[in-house]
Amino acid sequence: MNAKTNLDGAAPAVKAAPEVRLKGSAVSRGVAIGKIVCLHGTNRQFYRIDIKPSEIEAEIKRLGVAVTLAKRQLTRIASRKAGRIADSGPGIFEAHRMLIEDSSLQTKFEKEITEQNVNAEWAIKHVTDTYVAKYKAIDDEHLRDRYIDIEDVAERILAALGGSSAPKFALGKNAIIAAKELRPSTLIELAEDAPTAIITENGGWTSHSFIIAREMGCPAVTGLKKIFRRIKTGDMVIVDGFNGQVILNPSKETIDRFSAAADADSAKPGSSAKPHGPLKTLDGTTVRIYANSDSPAAYRKAKALGANGIGLYRSEFLFDRFRGVPTEAEQYKAYCLIADSAGEGGVKIRTFDLGAERLLDQNASKEKNPALGLRAVRLGLRFKQLLRTQIRALLRASANRHIDIVIPMVSGLSEIRSVKEMVHHEAELLASKGKSFGSPRLGAMIEIPSAVFMINELVEETDFICLGTNDLIQYLLAVDRDNEAVADWYRSLHPSVLKAVRTVLETANRAGKSAIVCGEMAGSPYYVPMLIGLGATELSMNVHSIEKVARMVAGIAADEAGQLIDSIGSVSTVEEVEETLNQAVKKNWAHLFPPNFSFA
Ligand code: PEP
Ligand code: MG
Repeated sequence: MNAKTNLDGAAPAVKAAPEVRLKGSAVSRGVAIGKIVCLHGTNRQFYRIDIKPSEIEAEIKRLGVAVTLAKRQLTRIASRKAGRIADSGPGIFEAHRMLIEDSSLQTKFEKEITEQNVNAEWAIKHVTDTYVAKYKAIDDEHLRDRYIDIEDVAERILAALGGSSAPKFALGKNAIIAAKELRPSTLIELAEDAPTAIITENGGWTSHSFIIAREMGCPAVTGLKKIFRRIKTGDMVIVDGFNGQVILNPSKETIDRFSAAADADSAKPGSSAKPHGPLKTLDGTTVRIYANSDSPAAYRKAKALGANGIGLYRSEFLFDRFRGVPTEAEQYKAYCLIADSAGEGGVKIRTFDLGAERLLDQNASKEKNPALGLRAVRLGLRFKQLLRTQIRALLRASANRHIDIVIPMVSGLSEIRSVKEMVHHEAELLASKGKSFGSPRLGAMIEIPSAVFMINELVEETDFICLGTNDLIQYLLAVDRDNEAVADWYRSLHPSVLKAVRTVLETANRAGKSAIVCGEMAGSPYYVPMLIGLGATELSMNVHSIEKVARMVAGIAADEAGQLIDSIGSVSTVEEVEETLNQAVKKNWAHLFPPNFSFA
């Protein structure tokens, strides 16, 4: 389908409307000026595409295929007798199937496509919204709640539409994505069109979408309440990813003022040369920088900026790339490619860090508390075939390549030992078949509190450790890292976080084992003095942060960083730690930050 966004044809939004400043949280640095494209949908995100009359027939066909697929899925789920998850409600799924079959839903969708000349996704949204509004107005509670079923069915058809025949996103120039929340897979699809910035209602600093946004060098602001009431597709806005603000209907003066910053910011990473020799602090401590990267192209840029290898490859991104569980052959190829591009520096490949919902039926497997649920290494130990296949691909790819394996969400020694056994077993099988394979080193992600308490034993049992500050903060403080409502409690500088980081780094350093900090703290120049003071000498980050962090490392003395930690030792609240760091940064290192950086 020759899709075209309605952005180009949108009515000019820059009228006499007053300039409005919305305050949110900056989650990816930079400034951008552009036009809004509103994304809708929860599971599958989309926007309105105006199609040509000649494209209507194909669009209706696409809808038909998706409806058939959705019905087939529902029949399969409804008839499944056994199975822990499906047990909860075959009846519901049967009802959903009937809802598609009995009602005139499909006809309504088709009518909307034909009469409004819009894509199937938009037609589904429009028709569903009307139904939902009607149901919500019903007095009878039982009937009223049917709206949830309608939404569910619509999501399922939308997900089915997201198959291989899905229309490609086609963003206009300088598009600023606005969404309630942005799914990482959507952002990956959008990346080709290089959105200028992202604004969302929900999400946090460590949400995977914003980690990707930082990798793309795409400014982002989140925590903007009820944004869809304030903006619409086509509106002109400024996104200030330094200070966490979004300016609606900016005046000419405001645009002029921000234009210089936006231009400077759009300079792509890689323009500056790689620093000569190893990166050292002013007083000579070597700090090695690595890239968090899952693409050879991104790593090439990182290497040019001085990265020493890939410190974190989040292998679960392969689920997005291959739209489901990647086969051993697909994994092998991907691991070889990334390891070849990492060369001598090597790549630390983390085994799949995902939840059960990505493996099982999307609608049937909702866990009440997914962050504490069947995910990461637990999933691999429950569905052994999944982890075995990955280990096999990793073992094979590591023949003559520098690959390390990292195990996510380790709570203690048992998971490491179980994985080691699997590695051993798979290596024996490969050997018996005469296949070549390597001997990757094995490391643990330290990201849940029990692992901090077990750090002595874990350091003994592994070849290296990776400190995942994103989850460590989440689990230590019991704050959902993706929930904007509790973002105020997600405090990277909580004294307990610093104590945990210090314990982990000191233990690894004492044992002479490598400890690489790979959470988002490592990519923030603001936290770098703190991390160095706590003993970090290896930092892994998104490519876009490398220059800024390297500049910070080269501009501070490890001794000064140590003094900062000493002065923090005597304070006991998060506010005091933040204030102490802020004062130290302002006093000693303000020159290392961009001129428009706002110290809180
Ligand atoms: C972390 O938890 O800090 C980490 C690096 O992993 P992720 O953000 O993928 O959970
Ligand atoms: Mg993690």
